[in-house]
Amino acid sequence: MNVLSIANLSIDYVGTQSVFHAVKDVSFDIAPGEFFGLAGESGCGKSTIAFAISRLHRPPALIRSGSKILVDGRDVLALDDAELRRFRWREVAMVFQSAMNSLNPVLTVEAQFYDVLKTHSGMSRAAARQRAAELLALVDIPIDRLAAYPHQLSGGMRQRIVIAICLALNPKLLIMDEPTTALDVVVQREILQRIDALRRQLGFSVLFITHDLALMVQVSDRIGIMLEGELIEVDAAQAIYSAPRHDYTRKLWASMPRLHGQQIAQDDK
Ligand code: ADP
Ligand code: MG
Repeated sequence: MNVLSIANLSIDYVGTQSVFHAVKDVSFDIAPGEFFGLAGESGCGKSTIAFAISRLHRPPALIRSGSKILVDGRDVLALDDAELRRFRWREVAMVFQSAMNSLNPVLTVEAQFYDVLKTHSGMSRAAARQRAAELLALVDIPIDRLAAYPHQLSGGMRQRIVIAICLALNPKLLIMDEPTTALDVVVQREILQRIDALRRQLGFSVLFITHDLALMVQVSDRIGIMLEGELIEVDAAQAIYSAPRHDYTRKLWASMPRLHGQQIAQDDK
């Protein structure tokens, strides 16, 4: 069974004067353990899809009837409030675009882990500390950083901590919406390679969103290309790189400045 199965997803932004079709009849699946990339220019509807999967979309976003979102076979659009509380963090966890700055500035790293672990699994402070230490180790951060405040950490470290918090309740699907855009290229790549290793180790699936196709092709198994709300091409990452079928995909590649003079290779896939 697929971890994520989206069928005929259409999402409108409904204004008083007009309706904007942000997502148009999008269908795709993500298999267990798969790293799936969703690419496309800014404004093509990537975040709108991510929010809908997490049921975090708000008016004026309106999911059209006939749309289906299944996570592990469960109909996400039919969850009631109690089911939704269980669903978030445990089934799907989402790292937002500005995640690096989403840590609470007045709480230590340990307290931020405790917040999530206590609220969502009723863990004691001692058990949460133990789990936080394990999670920090997963993202290669020394345990003494548990006592640090966000401003004492680099951007890359803060981002890895947000990711570790997202993994705290063993979600089946980790959604990352442009998680590393604010970081330099080397740190971006390090973080994504870490995520790649972790999903192999822990078995979760990843939906990775970016407009940076060059970065995406190095870490994804399959990639979907979006254009103005439509999913126009889905294929193996290597095929998207070396044999794109759609004109627009070729144009996207041509617009990637980092490709010039730089060989993009998929490391041992
Ligand atoms: P992406 O993440 O690919 O950059 P988004 O999903 O954020 O794109 O946005 C898709 C489209 O929907 C864009 O044209 C954007 O302007 C529009 N949009 C996003 N949020 C809203 C909103 N709250 N109200 C109206 N339009 C919106
Ligand atoms: Mg976005």
